[in-house]
Amino acid sequence: MNKKNLIFIGAPGSGKGTISNLLMEIAPLAHISTGDILRDEIKRDTELGRQAAVIMKEGGLVSDEIVVGMVKERLAKDDCKAGFILDGFPRTLNQAELLNKVLADLGMTLDAVVFFNVKDETLLARLTSRLSCKCGAVFNKLGMPPKVEGICDKCGGELYQRADDSLETAKNRLAVFYKQTQPVIDYYRTTGKMVELKDMDKEESMDLLKKELF
Ligand code: AMP
Repeated sequence: MNKKNLIFIGAPGSGKGTISNLLMEIAPLAHISTGDILRDEIKRDTELGRQAAVIMKEGGLVSDEIVVGMVKERLAKDDCKAGFILDGFPRTLNQAELLNKVLADLGMTLDAVVFFNVKDETLLARLTSRLSCKCGAVFNKLGMPPKVEGICDKCGGELYQRADDSLETAKNRLAVFYKQTQPVIDYYRTTGKMVELKDMDKEESMDLLKKELF
């Protein structure tokens, strides 16, 4: 794979996690999801987790300092040397600027920014019917159901609905995305590194990514 240090950017429910899992089956990429790291902090009931839980429940954004610190620590680990996917980060222009500094400090460069461009009605339908597993697998009651209802195909764990996938919180997360993250997309467009997946299903997305990134 030639282009291996990747950012996945897109609204909640746009397929970043699903495509991350598929790409990781064919390339040794470290998957860095700031949402997953924060959910793990909440599960472990850390001080950071307790602070983040209040914000995440409303669909707001955790502070730039906290998430950038988490990403910096994670990117410094050995497994990131073979390439990484930043999933759900950066979400603000400030995070994007701080990321540039972090990458420079670590002697790393970005190869591509993948923009998952999906219609709002599709996003809301997907979010409110999404089923998640603690192993990172994601299913969907409508388009991508598990083989056995309520059970993860990958690890056999019990599937659950994320607290922030309720209709009300999902709508708020979309509003936050357009306000805070749209400028990040506009910024990355100017870098010439953007690969756009516009209203594509997962097969079409994978075909395009294999063509563009390998
Ligand atoms: P996600 O799993 O990416 O949908 O993230 C779930 C929630 O975690 C978001 O709604 C935010 O509250 C928080 N979060 C995840 N990534 C970030 C980030 N880069 N900046 C701020 N908050 C974040």
